[in-house]
Formats: sequence, C-alpha cells, structure tokens
Amino acid sequence: MQYETVIGLEVHVQLDTRSKMFCACPADYQTADPNTPTCPVCLGLPGALPVINRRAVEFTMMTGLALNCSIPEYAKFDRKNYPYPDLMKGYQISQYDLPLALDGYVEIDGDPSIGHTQRRIGVERVHLEEDVAKMQHFPDGDGGEGYSLVDVNRSGVPLMEIVSKPDLRSPEEAHQYLTSLHSLVQFLGVSTANMQDGNFRCDANVSIRPVGSDTFGTRTEIKNVNSFRSVFQALEFEVERQQRVVESGGQVVQETRGWVEEREVTVSQRSKEYAHDYRYFPEPDLPPLNIGRDWVTQLQASLPELAPQRKARFIADYGLSEYDADLLTNTRATADYFEAALSIRDVDRSPDTALDSAKEVANWILGDLSRLLNQDHRDIAASPVTPTGLSDLLRLIADGTLSISLAKTVLEEMYASGGDAAAIVEEKGLAQISDTSAIEAAVAEAIAANPKAVADYLDGKENAARFLMGQVMRITKGQAQPDLALRLVQEGLAAQKN
Ligand code: ADP
Ligand code: MG
Ligand code: ZN
Repeated sequence: MQYETVIGLEVHVQLDTRSKMFCACPADYQTADPNTPTCPVCLGLPGALPVINRRAVEFTMMTGLALNCSIPEYAKFDRKNYPYPDLMKGYQISQYDLPLALDGYVEIDGDPSIGHTQRRIGVERVHLEEDVAKMQHFPDGDGGEGYSLVDVNRSGVPLMEIVSKPDLRSPEEAHQYLTSLHSLVQFLGVSTANMQDGNFRCDANVSIRPVGSDTFGTRTEIKNVNSFRSVFQALEFEVERQQRVVESGGQVVQETRGWVEEREVTVSQRSKEYAHDYRYFPEPDLPPLNIGRDWVTQLQASLPELAPQRKARFIADYGLSEYDADLLTNTRATADYFEAALSIRDVDRSPDTALDSAKEVANWILGDLSRLLNQDHRDIAASPVTPTGLSDLLRLIADGTLSISLAKTVLEEMYASGGDAAAIVEEKGLAQISDTSAIEAAVAEAIAANPKAVADYLDGKENAARFLMGQVMRITKGQAQPDLALRLVQEGLAAQKN
C-alpha cells in the first residue's frame, strides 16, 4: 500500500514588544532575574485587570496581512481554562472563534521527491494570546520525584499562533513552510524568532492515508520541537511509525507525542481521552475589538519588503547571483547591512560601476566579514565593523591605498579593535607601496639573494619570476603593489640576460 503524508503546523511566535500582553511589565523576560519583572496582572492575582497591548495586536494583524489573510471587522479575546502550575490564573487569555486574521496562504517551492513544485499552503488563522510562566524541573538524583520551580517572568509575554491548514505533504514541505514563516516574522520585525530561546516554537500534526483517499487519517500531534532539524526528524520518524502501525493491522490513536532528542523517537504523552476540555468563554475583563478599515489599510502600507521580494530585487537591480542574493536575504539584518554599505559606497559613483560595487560589497560581507562573525557567533547587527566602516575600507582599495590582501589584514584589525580603516592603515603603516624606487630596491635584494631562481628563469622557467615576486612581497611585508612588483621583477630579470 502506498501512503500519503498529511501535515498541519501550529507555530507559536513570541512578539517583540516592549511590554507584556496585558500589563506594563517588560516583555524581555530572559535577561532579568527569575520572578522580577512581574505585577499583579501577570502573577494572576485576583482582581487585577488586564489592558490590551496595542502593538501586539498590530504585529498580529501585520503578520496576517503578510500571510494574505483577511482581517475581520470584529475580534475578541476568550478565556481558555485549564489547571497547570505554569498557568498563573488557571486560565489563559487567548482567542477562540474570532481571531485577528483568517484564511491566508504561504507560497513554498514544494517537495520535488513527491513530484511537487511551487505550492500554496493554506493558513487557517492567526490569533493572539499570552505566554505562560516557565517551569524548571530538578530531579533529586536518587530516582525520587525531585522538585520544580516556576519563573513567572515569561507569564503574559505576547504570543502569536499561526495555524496552517493540513496542506503539507511531507516533512520536507513542513520544513520549507516553517523556514518561510520564520523569515516572514523576522523581516516584518514582529519577533526575534530565535528557536533556541523558544521565541519560535512549533507543534506538528501528522497523519497518513492511502494514496487517492479523500478523507484524512487519525492524526498525532508532536509538541514543542525546538529546531528546524528536529521538526523534520520528528515528522519523518512519526510517518514511519504510523505506517508500521497501520501495516501491522493496528490503528493510529489520536494523541499528543513528545520528541525525545537524544533517542530520536517520539513517545506518547497524552491520549485523546485525557484531552482538555477548555470551557472557552469570552473574556469578561476585556472589550471586544472593532477593527476599522483605515487601521488595516495603514498597517498594510507599513509592511516592509519581505525576503522573497528583496532577493528578487537584489538579483534584478544589483546583478547578484541567485546564490549570493539568497545568502544576503537570509536575515533582515544581513540584507539591511548590505544595502547600507552599498548606499554609502555608491555616493558619487557612476551607474556602470554600481554593479561591480554591489558584487564587491557582497563578497566582503559573505566572505571575510561572515567568517569573522561566525568565529565568535556574533550577529551581523552587532558587527564591530559597521556598514560605513566597510565602505571606508573599500574606498581605500579603490584609490590604490590597499591591495586586497592588505585590506583583509585591515578588516581583521577593524573587527578586533572597532577602529577606523584609515586610522589603522596610518597607525600600522599598512598602506600599499606604489613608489617604483622603493620596490626596485626590494627587487634588487630578491634577485641578489636568489641566484638559483634567477638561473632557472634564464633557463626558461617562467615560474621563477612568480617566486621572486613572492620574495619581493615578503621583503615589503606584503605592501608592494602586486602588479607593479611583478613588472619590476620581470624588468630586473630581463636586465640579467644581457
Ligand atoms: P487543535 O486545536 O485540537 O490542535 P485544530 O483544528 O486547531 O485542532 O488543528 C490543529 C492543526 O492540525 C492544524 O494545523 C491542522 O491543519 C492540523 N490537522 C488537522 N487535521 C489533521 C490531520 N488529519 N492530519 C494532519 N494534520 C491535521
Ligand atoms: Mg493543537
Ligand atoms: Zn505584569
């Protein structure tokens, strides 16, 4: 029997607002000491009244618009009731039947291994809720139960949920969808979307059905997998597990399963029998939202350019390769850095040199600068070499002050000290030597010190000239202008012939 895989994802995204969803406590809960940025509202004390964070509502609508959703004229918040130690009030304020955005889609490339190209994945809804506190478990070491601590800092942080339709047909397509969503929220600037920090989390629903069937099979839900790779692996495992169950005559049971990273398996956590009855009802402490059309129009107009459009523009306007444009639009910070460096560099340059300049700037960012940043796991937004710094460096190459290899040395210095290119060249005496007489002295020294190379050259071994040029670069500490050095070596050798 041939099976088809059906996957739908629920993605939780923490919104990058300054304050929490329903109180004025800072939403940046990770840098503070446990249980410090809290107040009666996010502690869930009786009688404390919530106030809606307008920016969080806007971020959710912006995401909905970028996902081609419609924004209803009327939305409301509901109480989702369940008891859990990390849920301070015993209910979570969420949205049930009237979310902020409905019925959109995301374009993905599709999984070629199942014959798919360019596909549209439906987005059911985007809604807004509050995050819960964070539990940390401490086993007691003797096989006993240990104990748990609760950190309330995260309680009340704005959390946006994006629910897909069951339109994905393989783990690969789920991965593509997740990558697109991640890039989208990041380019919108609504979330830092850092998966390791739990700012971007995913629950994956998966079922299988015989190819050709038009009804869905029973699904399982894999909870809170925290990397793209784990989502992919967990789904692959789960598809195979369900096939084994069905092929051995069994039935898949609807349940929640957890991904165990160390063993690379999913395990049952909670079956449908124990599923929560959330007893949703409208939140009586908050007013419903009437969403004016002018507000929606304004948000639509404020949407920044997203990665796919920006990539296409980099190719069309700057003549970059698909590969370079892809890397430069990997994060918004990289794309912003590139365009900032380029715009400074393009001042008083003619249009026909602008394309070379784009390629040159791209090469420096993707090559030497990325290497330095990767070495200390630093984000480009925090680069000690700023876009202005990089374009100053490139100007010193353009005017002949620096060769490429000297510029690489200067870049490393700039990165290490945060200093300015011209000042470093001055201070370290790194400028390129283009003075003929200074290089001639080094050529004479190299020729005198390497009679064997000279003899080889006179025997017709042209390579010997390169070797001697290398010696000249060494004597001048890499500062001789390379073309000039080679020409003077050749002239010096020609003189030896006579
Ligand atoms: P719940 O709130 O119980 O998780 P939802 O109706 O909100 O249920 O669905 C959650 C997710 O499950 C959605 O992303 C949806 O696309 C997906 N889903 C629903 N049915 C199936 C199925 N048979 N196989 C795979 N995914 C499914
Ligand atoms: Mg679910
Ligand atoms: Zn608070």
